[in-house]
Amino acid sequence: MRMSRSRQHVSSSRKRQAEEEPVVAAVVAKKGTLINVTKQQRKKVAAKLREQQDAYLSVSEATPMSFVASAADGPPPPVEELDVYCPRCRFALSEDQVSEGFEDNVLSYTTQCPECKHRFETSFAFEHPDSGARTRFVWLCSQQTRNQYGLWYDDRKKQLADMPADTVVDTLIVDRPEVAFNAYRYGPVHTKEVRKRIREFLAADYDEDDQVDDDDQVDDDDQVDDDDQVDDE
Ligand SMILES: [Zn+2]
Repeated sequence: MRMSRSRQHVSSSRKRQAEEEPVVAAVVAKKGTLINVTKQQRKKVAAKLREQQDAYLSVSEATPMSFVASAADGPPPPVEELDVYCPRCRFALSEDQVSEGFEDNVLSYTTQCPECKHRFETSFAFEHPDSGARTRFVWLCSQQTRNQYGLWYDDRKKQLADMPADTVVDTLIVDRPEVAFNAYRYGPVHTKEVRKRIREFLAADYDEDDQVDDDDQVDDDDQVDDDDQVDDE
């Protein structure tokens, strides 16, 4: 997979002296500032996110797997509700305002209320197209979506390495439906097929705006063109 190749490239280019030195990923923090982040820090964030997602799923009526699987062969179900009221001042954020509030930083998954500046986690609520049951997924920025995918892939690399790309996506849908759905949302707009769209989104590296040092970027003809990284909706 391109994600793992990219990470290997980052690791080998740094000529690390101590073997226990954590893997370092260059990411964009606060809209353009470069920071280095250890895998341990990323894993900590991932664990918190899983907790949040589990809390949503415990009150869901639909199983996330059946929910996402229902979208795998057709168009995704519509966003039934955007639950984006600021928990502090109750301001109702638009989808654009939620996107603007993200920090595009793999260590942050909160958005910011434009009124009172409070930061909070947000989510999508969906209605199952067949049963009408509802479920909820955390809402992630594009960087965080790729970060979550990268950690998941690294954990299961042995198992996933020889799988066809579409099967990897199917496995992601089962394991981490919220990551799959966020990837679907950020995927290339012109790509109709769900798995392809998820795949193409995740194939691109963390940074979409060429703000990361070139040294840390994999040279790869297969990289998705920036033109394809359109934020839809
Ligand atoms: Zn507020």
